[in-house]
Amino acid sequence: MKFEELRLSAKTLKSIKDLGYEEPTEVQVKAIPRIMEGKNLIVRSQTGTGKTAAFGIGLIERIASKATSKALVLVPTRELALQVCAELRTLGLPHGLNVRAAYGGQKLMFQMRDLEKSYHILVATPGRLVDLCERRAVYLSKFNAVVLDEADHMLDIGFRKEVFGILDGLPPDRLTLLFSATIDEGIRQIASRHIPGPELIEVGEMRPVSAIKEERVDVPHLQKVPKLLETLRLHPGTKSLVFARTKRGVMRLKRKLEEANIPQVGMLHGDMEQPKRTRMIERFRKNEIKVLVATNVASRGLHVEDVGLIINYDEAENRETHLHRSGRTGRMGASGKVVTFISRDAPPLQRNVRQQSRSNYGNPGRDNSWHKGPGRGPGQEGRGGSGHGPRGPGRGGRRHSKRRRKPVWQRGHRRQR
Ligand code: AMP
Repeated sequence: MKFEELRLSAKTLKSIKDLGYEEPTEVQVKAIPRIMEGKNLIVRSQTGTGKTAAFGIGLIERIASKATSKALVLVPTRELALQVCAELRTLGLPHGLNVRAAYGGQKLMFQMRDLEKSYHILVATPGRLVDLCERRAVYLSKFNAVVLDEADHMLDIGFRKEVFGILDGLPPDRLTLLFSATIDEGIRQIASRHIPGPELIEVGEMRPVSAIKEERVDVPHLQKVPKLLETLRLHPGTKSLVFARTKRGVMRLKRKLEEANIPQVGMLHGDMEQPKRTRMIERFRKNEIKVLVATNVASRGLHVEDVGLIINYDEAENRETHLHRSGRTGRMGASGKVVTFISRDAPPLQRNVRQQSRSNYGNPGRDNSWHKGPGRGPGQEGRGGSGHGPRGPGRGGRRHSKRRRKPVWQRGHRRQR
């Protein structure tokens, strides 16, 4: 199929050509016409299938035809916010559309000032958006379309309350598009409460599974570093991502690799300042960094096309995270290899590292009902300015049984200016 057959405007066709896309992907063929018709959608698709351009092209066509005036795109992480924002900006350029991004880790005042200017699309992480709404820098009532991108990931990392609150505050007759790699109970709850009459679109993975070679290696705990060095030396010059579970693990491994004279090593974790993280990804993209040691912060939505090797130094905590990590290689049909270290003799502390890091990260936050959802994993996008992991004593703990009064910004759009 050709993009022309989707009956897109000449301006959108031009931007698609500028991006170098020759044919629409499966998700684009299935979703774009339905978005243009104004249908609420639930789309099951992984990253790497072209889903961003699917909702991007659909939204931009609607905005260009004045069917939608302002759209909100919710994403789980800052990295994804930046990537989605960049793709939407390119797609919307010939139409003169303004796309802005709001995410934790950047100065709130700076973003508030930016959002005083006009825009058509706002790409935001849920925590930062709630902060901006509370400060009256964003009015949810102004949006008549919303995209929940990687909705399962947003729920996984503890943004459930924020997502439901934001959906509550949007006008009920808006267009709602939900994209998720899995359709589980959490997604079904969003659908039943907030997406009337949705159409379900299911998309297979774009790359053939055989393009990725998986290898599981039994490694005694104390031999993991030497095994890592051996594995990297067996793949000289291959762009590689090494996943460790905690930021401390990441820092330690980076140091070990440098001490062993592995060239061009970088690291990425959720405690790094946003400009540093962006710069690191850019250097990895440009091949200035060849081995990137990272927490799960890099497991989703990181668009680096030519990663040839993924090493799960620490096993992923569940199958889904494993799939997302693996999805960083073999992108757009290229081949790739995933090596997973299995250490059956890991000391208990190591196995419970998730729990341990949670208490390490927990520092007293504001006593605000938005902070009381389930915990966020280390290195994940947090609420508020720091972008650190879970905050507040209530995170991951008890839930409030009493009904709380809705925050002012969320109490229905009629009250707002
Ligand atoms: P996504 O599923 O949005 O994470 O997209 C994965 C990658 O596919 C991105 O790097 C896009 O630039 C690229 N992409 C999206 N649509 C197409 C297309 N029709 N042809 C080629 N590449 C595409």
